[in-house]
Amino acid sequence: MNQEKPAAALSYPFEIPARGQTCEVAPGVHWIRMPLPFRLDHINLWALDDGVGWAVVDTGTSSDDNTRVWRELFALSTDARSITRVFVTHMHPDHVGMAGWLTRKFRIRLWMTRLEYLNCRALVAENGREAASDVLSFYLESGWSAAAVETYHKAFGVFGKYIHALPDSYRRIQDGEELRIGPHNWRVVVGSGHSPEHACLYCPELRVLISGDQVLPRISSNISVHPSEPDADPMRDWLDSLQKLKREVPDDVLVLPSHNEPFRGLHARLDQLGADQERTFGRLKRVLQQPRRLVELSEALFGRAIGEENIPLLHMATGETRACLNHLMNRGEVQRALADDGVHRYFLR
Ligand SMILES: [Zn+2]
Ligand SMILES: [Zn+2]
Repeated sequence: MNQEKPAAALSYPFEIPARGQTCEVAPGVHWIRMPLPFRLDHINLWALDDGVGWAVVDTGTSSDDNTRVWRELFALSTDARSITRVFVTHMHPDHVGMAGWLTRKFRIRLWMTRLEYLNCRALVAENGREAASDVLSFYLESGWSAAAVETYHKAFGVFGKYIHALPDSYRRIQDGEELRIGPHNWRVVVGSGHSPEHACLYCPELRVLISGDQVLPRISSNISVHPSEPDADPMRDWLDSLQKLKREVPDDVLVLPSHNEPFRGLHARLDQLGADQERTFGRLKRVLQQPRRLVELSEALFGRAIGEENIPLLHMATGETRACLNHLMNRGEVQRALADDGVHRYFLR
């Protein structure tokens, strides 16, 4: 995810709650701030009044610290109402990490879209497995050195490190479905691109949108191509999802994003995200006047050299750059050829 200049049209009506505290941002909708052990150091979770208890949306990574925060929150709950169910917007570890722990502890159901649930289980199953040759060639063709690929190879299959085992069964939610949560109806609005079937929750009565990572106010979501589907065009899905959200959710909602703070100005933010992306394509295309390897293009995309000393960063930058390139190839603006050195060269069409 990339830092950007903030949009002038957005407003942020709430103060960030302290650790272990909650802040009511709409009737029966409470904001919980959970620490993360990454550069992006927090995630926002939501507790929704579910009548007999609380429905939780997203859960934090699996860590001792987050377990402590959850226990502090249970201690804080004065009305002894329990957690009724766990919604997870998408499969990334900061969102799904504690879901298995919560569902087992309270003997409750996990509610999630099918692609997110199944993909998460598949990725966790890769834990401890060696990277396959098509994974390694994906990075060699991008221009990584053999040494960098070897380092990556050794560290492969760490996705499950931050995730408690998922429950073996779940309740599927799907696009357009109306869910009754406590006294209100919430509509599932699915977006794609950041993850395959990301669920946002929109409550027309409360005029609230829980946007997950689909719309963030101050950073842009990571859109990446992964080696398992090297020809995918998640950028197309992402840009389509921005349009879809604008059509299906009115501008006057309070947006509850998973990172940064709750904000107003949904449509301005959706427009800005689309325009920023087009500007990024323009930057890339200027560099593509000469044939380039993908690793050189990451530099143009991120505005600085991304060396091989930081493999996780190189990995993320490669996935994001590939997403832009696959999209520009699908639009017929860029093409590529495999050179004699086994590395792709990208150039303008
Ligand atoms: Zn995410
Ligand atoms: Zn996230």
